[in-house]
Formats: sequence, structure tokens, C-alpha cells
Amino acid sequence: MRMKKKLAVASAVLASVLALGACSSSSDGSDSATDESTLGISGDTIKIGIKFDQPGLGLKDGDTYKGFDVDVAKYVANKLGYDDDHITWVEAISAQRETLIQNGSVDLVFATYSITDARKEQVSFAGPYFIAGQDFLVSKDNTDITGPNDLGSKILCSVEGSISAERIRDDYSKDVQLYPAQTYSECVELLAAGSVDAVTTDDIILAGFAAQEQYADKFKIVGNPFTEEKYGVGLKKGNTALCEAVNDALTEMFNDGSWEKALSDNTPSSYTPNMKLNPPEFEGCDS
Ligand code: GLU
Repeated sequence: MRMKKKLAVASAVLASVLALGACSSSSDGSDSATDESTLGISGDTIKIGIKFDQPGLGLKDGDTYKGFDVDVAKYVANKLGYDDDHITWVEAISAQRETLIQNGSVDLVFATYSITDARKEQVSFAGPYFIAGQDFLVSKDNTDITGPNDLGSKILCSVEGSISAERIRDDYSKDVQLYPAQTYSECVELLAAGSVDAVTTDDIILAGFAAQEQYADKFKIVGNPFTEEKYGVGLKKGNTALCEAVNDALTEMFNDGSWEKALSDNTPSSYTPNMKLNPPEFEGCDS
């Protein structure tokens, strides 16, 4: 792992030279033509897909955007030559991520986006930049949901287009009733109203919701993460130059302390990331 990172640091110099070349016009905004042949980004802004409703990860608050995904995205965009004023934030709900990348609505996606083989058929991934684990959010007094196997015919909310929903349906409780929501905020509202028995997705997402003031003392996270969700940076399939430039930026972020700061600034004290897995090793840009 260390070895890999050192190599990546060495190539970061080259990448930043390339990136500067690609986007030198964006710092003063005077020239909108970027060299699309280098990184495949056109125009003088970079379009980044994030979640708009996930506290601690990707949250739109008026005109500002905050969270760990946002901070990682900003760091990477800055290294690619785009300052914060030259980032266009685009909402990327779970079910839309591949489409937004494929049709060019976004250049990069930082949206709690797990790298999976099925998704790699359609898009490419830099990273991962974080590893989370799937878990459950239940009401504070629930005692009968302790993991993915004991769900019986309970009503479980998860989001369409997420791996979390598919996995429960395909690999675990066959009798479970899946409530297909569009966003996690919708699921959490349903849980608060008692309309579903549990919400399932990544622990870091659930922790962000559970820490919201309006839900204080209402929920608990079961605390048995049963998967490894490798959060990748989604980009157009086969754009190896962009993938490598993103990985070089991420390597710098891991090494200069900004990644750790972004993680601790954005996650609630109740959430302990698995530091045996983080920061993660990259998967490489070949596939
Ligand atoms: N990380 C999982 C996924 O990419 C669940 C979270 C989400 O839907 O954003 O499917």
C-alpha cells in the first residue's frame, strides 16, 4: 500500500503539470476553452455530481454544499485546476449516477458511490477514497433487527439504484418487503413516521442522519456492518487520464492530512470509521 502511494506521489507531479495545462484558463476565467483532449472536461467549469440530501456527505444548504464527499470533490477539482467558483454541483441521486456520467451531465461523481463490477460495465472509477459498510437504522427501542438475516417480512426502506437494496433482495431475506425510495432522506422520514421498520444503507450515511437534531434520541444504528462499500469517483468509462489525475489528487489528499480532516470535520462523533480499511488502496484505472 505504502509503495503504491509513493509511486502515485511521484506521478502526481506529472499529473499536476498536465492538469495545469488542461485548465490554466480557469483560474482567471478569461478563456472558456479547455483542452478537452487531455482530461475530457469541456468548458471552464467542472461538473460534479453529489448527493444533495445526505448530512455529513453531500448536503445542499441554500447555495452552499457541504460534507465529506463535497470536501473530497473540492480538493480534487482544485488539484485539477478548478477553483471552487469553477465547480458546478449537480444532484446525483443513486439511480441516476450512471446516466449522468454517460450523457455528460457530470464529469465526476462523488456520491457515496460504491465501486461494483456491474457499474464498471457502464462507467469507470477512480479511488476508492473511503470504505464504509452496509448497516441498518432502526428506531431506538427496536430489539429484533440485529443484522441482514433476521428481517423476516419486515418493511425495509432503501433507495432505488443502490447496491444496498439489491443486496438485501438478492442475498438475504427473501420475504422482506422493500420500500423503494428515491433518496435516503425520504427513507429516514418514513422511519421517523413509523411507516417502515428499518432503513438500510452504508453506516456513514445512516450516522449522518441519526445525528440530525430533529432525530435526536429517535434512532439507533444496529452496528454490525456486513459489507465493504468502496466509494469510488465515477467518471466516463475508459477515461484513464482523468482517472489517474483524480487518483494523484486523492493521494495528495491522503498524504497531506486533508483527507483525515475532511472525514473528522464531517462525521458525527458517534461514527467511527474503520481505520483498518481507510484510507483505502486504489483499485487502478485499467478496468
Ligand atoms: N454505497 C451504496 C451505493 O452506491 C449505497 C449508497 C447510495 O446509494 O448512495 O449503492
